Amino acid sequence: MNSNGFKDNGRIIIVGASLAGLRAAEALRDEGFRGDLTIIGDEPEEPYDRPPLSKQVLAGWVRPDGTKLPRMRRVDADWRLGVAATGIDRANNRILLADGSAVEGDRLLIATGVRSRPWPNPDEAALDGVFTLRTSSDAAKLQAALAAKPKRVLVIGSGFIGSEVASVCRDLGLEVTVAERGPAPLAGPLGLVIGRIAAEMQRAAGVDLRTGVSVQGLDGDAGGHVRRARLSDGTTLDVDVVVASLGSIRNIEWLEGVGLAAGTWGVGCDAGCRAFDINGVVTNNVFVAGDIARAPHVLYDYQFMAMEHWDNAVLGAQVAAHNMVCAETERWAHLMIPQFWSGQFGVNIKSVGVPSFGDEIAFTQGSIKDRRFAAAFGRRGRIVGAVTFDHGKWIPYYEAQIARSMPFPPNPVGSDFPEDMRAMPAEFPVRGVPTETPDVVLTGHNPSERSAEFHPRKR
Ligand SMILES: Cc1cc2nc3c(=O)[nH]c(=O)nc-3n(C[C@H](O)[C@H](O)[C@H](O)COP(=O)(O)OP(=O)(O)OC[C@H]3O[C@@H](n4cnc5c(N)ncnc54)[C@H](O)[C@@H]3O)c2cc1C
Repeated sequence: MNSNGFKDNGRIIIVGASLAGLRAAEALRDEGFRGDLTIIGDEPEEPYDRPPLSKQVLAGWVRPDGTKLPRMRRVDADWRLGVAATGIDRANNRILLADGSAVEGDRLLIATGVRSRPWPNPDEAALDGVFTLRTSSDAAKLQAALAAKPKRVLVIGSGFIGSEVASVCRDLGLEVTVAERGPAPLAGPLGLVIGRIAAEMQRAAGVDLRTGVSVQGLDGDAGGHVRRARLSDGTTLDVDVVVASLGSIRNIEWLEGVGLAAGTWGVGCDAGCRAFDINGVVTNNVFVAGDIARAPHVLYDYQFMAMEHWDNAVLGAQVAAHNMVCAETERWAHLMIPQFWSGQFGVNIKSVGVPSFGDEIAFTQGSIKDRRFAAAFGRRGRIVGAVTFDHGKWIPYYEAQIARSMPFPPNPVGSDFPEDMRAMPAEFPVRGVPTETPDVVLTGHNPSERSAEFHPRKR
């Protein structure tokens, strides 16, 4: 991709027609971009919102096709929906599409997000009644299966989405088992201290929560419908619906071999959303936003972070769009403090910052017993994140504390304090190491020929 000096004209291509892609297109027009804009998306639908899929849609309050994203303005773009991008011909500034056509452009935004990690056994994953949840069509199928009143639902994995699905099942009066390999729900993003509270919430709501247990296999009946799950503790469960909620896989396959820093971690980029090439050198005309982006964050030791959150997609898209059309001296940095919300078991959970960057936690406001509290996360004496349960009005306070790297534990104003405000270990589980990460090797000796190559990992 080569900008040839274009700023407010020329040809921009956005790949990924969802939240980040749409908001970037709108921001480009707001910024005064008058050139050609092409938006390529492999889903046939117009951009829609995903958070309601695991909440209002599963509950039956909103139709699966009823979460179309509101348009903030006209974008005047050539929409190529229902067709995937399959590669980039960088020498000729072209994006290659699955239908054999190609689109020319001088700047590219990569916003291809993530997809659900499928149940690892393909035969079992193909059984009727086994679901994942990422798209509106996933939500439509799962909603229909829940509305048919299955005798028992099994949710595998208790991150945010798995926990929300379990919560909706209980709201619908369905029996639900949650099988979690780790020690508690939400322990990965929020640590075990919060995870224990989440576990209590689930059990109080009637969820059959099984922790420290993994699902080893699923059995179907003669008609190919899932009927049984085999667990690692030797027990079996009779189930009619299984929801595999195992996290996500980044949509990077279409970038294979194009020489960008794209791998299982996402697409590496600088804080201005400019993609790195395979050697870690920043590109000028390829930008990244949303769930697929992985950028360094100044507040978190400049570590590269991927934030699979709604706000991150919106703000990243705005920064990327600005930097695609501004003068070099006017670039912005995407320095947002991540925020996330979740509704489950009647509680509104919000988080700000990166709790899992911390190693200590202190309850700072409210009452744990009433499940209405705020807690801060700290590292090396500084606040790095916070979580609230039904206490969301305090999020801006914690956000300001995190932005200014204030001391941990913080001293919020007010009179509604927990009995024990001492800092304690947050108990984050030890992170697993991804197995499929490719090896990176260096070839050549002189600076002019030395470069990186990805090699599949030798097993
Ligand atoms: C069920 C659910 C609940 C959620 N709840 C919350 C919540 O409560 N709070 C919160 O903050 N966040 C939540 N999220 C996360 C939030 O929805 C995401 O952060 C957001 O959708 C990211 O937007 P994106 O545009 O980066 O990626 P995506 O929304 O994943 O969009 C990427 C798009 O690119 C398309 N694509 C992929 N490959 C190609 C290709 N080769 N060619 C063309 N198109 C391609 C994809 O099909 C997709 O349409 C939730 C997500 C899900 C699935």
